[in-house]
Amino acid sequence: SRTQDRTLETRPRTLPAVDEFHNEPDTDLALPANQEWARGIYRHAASLEGQAAGLDTLQGGLISDDLGPIDGRIEIDSIVEKMRRGGKKWAARGAEGRGKILLKAAAELGVRRGEIMSVMMQEAGKTLAESDPEISEAIDFARYYASQAVEMEQLNGAKFTPVGLTMVAPPWNFPVAIPTGSVTSALAAGSAVIIKPAPQVRRCAAVMVEALWAAGVPKDVLHLADVSEGELGRALISHQGVDRVILTGAFETAALFRSWRADLPVLAETSGKNALVITPSADIDLAVADLVKSAFGHAGQKCSAASLVILVGSVAKSERFWRQLEDAVNTLDVGWPDARPETTMNPIIEPPGAKLRQGLTELGAGEEWLAEPRQLDDTERLWSPGVRLGVRPGSTFHQTEYFGPLLGVMTARTLQDAVEYQNSVEYGLTAGIHSLDPDEVSYWLDHVHAGNLYVNRGITGAIVRRQPFGGWKKSSVGPTAKAGGPNYLFGLGSLTSAPVNR
Ligand code: GLU
Repeated sequence: SRTQDRTLETRPRTLPAVDEFHNEPDTDLALPANQEWARGIYRHAASLEGQAAGLDTLQGGLISDDLGPIDGRIEIDSIVEKMRRGGKKWAARGAEGRGKILLKAAAELGVRRGEIMSVMMQEAGKTLAESDPEISEAIDFARYYASQAVEMEQLNGAKFTPVGLTMVAPPWNFPVAIPTGSVTSALAAGSAVIIKPAPQVRRCAAVMVEALWAAGVPKDVLHLADVSEGELGRALISHQGVDRVILTGAFETAALFRSWRADLPVLAETSGKNALVITPSADIDLAVADLVKSAFGHAGQKCSAASLVILVGSVAKSERFWRQLEDAVNTLDVGWPDARPETTMNPIIEPPGAKLRQGLTELGAGEEWLAEPRQLDDTERLWSPGVRLGVRPGSTFHQTEYFGPLLGVMTARTLQDAVEYQNSVEYGLTAGIHSLDPDEVSYWLDHVHAGNLYVNRGITGAIVRRQPFGGWKKSSVGPTAKAGGPNYLFGLGSLTSAPVNR
């Protein structure tokens, strides 16, 4: 054996270490200057109305459904080839070299915050309050993965080899934060990326990709493929030159991708059916505020949303609880955010599909409406929030993910029963408890089965590094990987033991 070379330990750092990482703050809208800035966002969002959602602002060879199946396939082969070559050069830059560009990308997203938020508001219908934290999260992802990759490269005795060309298939509900997270994780880990945006939010993906290009991510390292999940999408995702897919979407979509190519490595964050438990020891005012925000933020269109609340014991008889809940739900201001800044609950992304429509209009046995959802205009996208009482364990509502503005109320005799109801669903993404009794909280933490647990807090809005995000059971596919957490990048490459320390 030989003495270890001390210079290895004093290698100068140019990127902030992970332990120096801080979360990007959201905009403080109490400041008059920021209020003026916010008014600009509404104006800009309104001016985007009616503009074609095409990606014609993007220069350079895009794969697009417009190409048609034959030309499209030829184009796909050539793009995949080009990206594989670009990826090799990108990997050779090392984690520091890539990280510097990702830090610039984070800065670029910060500079473009208002512009990107206008697009989110216009295209995805997001409120200002919901889109501002999304930009912060996107910035966090870029910075966090950049420094994580450096840590990983410095692991004593191990060498990291990136997985290779990565396809990113993000969802429409977090049209900037999630694609940025998936893309920057793969870039940080040394792979080239082709992103296939959700068709509802192509413009959001385009402005994000433009920010990354402007920061210096080469076009043969990040490509935007404007295809749907039709013929070309399938040809692209199942292409043998694609080494890994990062998907956020329904569990069924992951299954669909795998049916196209059985050996396709998929890393996916999928569905959830999440409940918040409230016990008699809870601070009821706080619990209701967190519940309503978790259930109806972005009209309930989050994998993390609370679509069930489980009232333990006497909570169901608490007049205070019911008064607060009705008040909070009735005062949600439902509207189109770009037309009405006072909006607190936005439209759903498109007219409800069969499953959501059923949830919005049909009751199960023993159920009744506390607040019946009403369709508020003829677009079929604007619905008032729905709260149903009497949801029974094992019922359809208990176990179905609706992905819309719907909350079901269940009651449980004991906390044990409540946890049992929380766990007896196919998914295990988020779960929450409001209780001021430490014994209840510790029982709950020991017994609940979900990836993200929240105590005396809402159950949406995981923060990078603080609450690495990802679930159990049918809430994820592939190796357990938590987005925004220390193990995520390991899933994007292979580790080789190298005897540097003998
Ligand atoms: N990470 C988001 C949250 O914590 C949810 C992501 C999703 O809906 O896929 O609210």
